[in-house]
Amino acid sequence: MTFESIIGHERQKNILRQALTNRRIAHAYLFEGPDGVGKRLVALAMARALLCQHRTGCGDCTSCRKVDHNNHPDIHLLDADGATIKIDQVRELQRELALKPLEGVYRICLIDGAEFFNPAAANALLKTLEEPQPNTVIILLSSRPESLLVTIRSRCQRLPFQRLPKQRLSEVLVNRLDLTEVEAAVLAALSEGSFKKALGQNRELYLVRRRELLRSLAALSSGSTIPLFKLADELAAEKEILPEIIDIFQAYYRDLLLLKHGRPQTDLVNLDLLETLHRQVDQETTESLLQKLRALDTGRYYLQRNVNRQLAMEIMLMRMNAA
Ligand SMILES: [Zn+2]
Repeated sequence: MTFESIIGHERQKNILRQALTNRRIAHAYLFEGPDGVGKRLVALAMARALLCQHRTGCGDCTSCRKVDHNNHPDIHLLDADGATIKIDQVRELQRELALKPLEGVYRICLIDGAEFFNPAAANALLKTLEEPQPNTVIILLSSRPESLLVTIRSRCQRLPFQRLPKQRLSEVLVNRLDLTEVEAAVLAALSEGSFKKALGQNRELYLVRRRELLRSLAALSSGSTIPLFKLADELAAEKEILPEIIDIFQAYYRDLLLLKHGRPQTDLVNLDLLETLHRQVDQETTESLLQKLRALDTGRYYLQRNVNRQLAMEIMLMRMNAA
């Protein structure tokens, strides 16, 4: 992983390149920004450049190869992965950081999901940040930097990361995946600039399943409630991806709203469903679309508050159907 092979984030990469060239490396960095946009890749490229035997991140030396194979002994990875980071993990890290680098000049510590520190662990980390060891670089990654201790944030050089623009992501997807331009545009719009979403499991959801789900939704009528309860069942069973499914429904009604108000097609998400959209737009009023979007918002709100999923979906669909 080199800076050159990472798409986007030019400003951030330049700042880090400059630091490397001038050998003015901060003791701690905070890479902040949405999940899945490439913060971790940039951090790994930085680590590789710092540890490289030629100080370039050449990709050929043993050190670079070890970084690429995730087995460099001077890189310490603390991966929150959604769970709390506890004080024992920070203590162990501190013990390791106290030792001299095994192979390179630096010891690098990468903490992914820095918002998951529990209070005791955060305070322990703060100690480490307050007494920086020479040749130790700590890189914190977080999508919710506001939940970190202010004192932690102020000890780090902060580097904000943005989502990749829709157009740019779409071009990359056409080049990397076997997709048509329309498919790539749909995937890019729904992934909101996140490579992880676009390239991962959401690909099938956004390209294939989306069309099925929207068909089921369109088939609901105010006459019969049986399809409605069936769809609510189906949605409630999808605990993991339900927020993304609600995103899909919202994007669809937002498309209709944009179309109703004469916005250009390039603003739409469901570019592969233009015919369906044009057919449906006449059956909806601005008010009915807004009510559906509100019903979806409320459904999402209930889910976040752990209301019974089945019930939340039934109410959401009933409200949408009545709009
Ligand atoms: Zn190298």
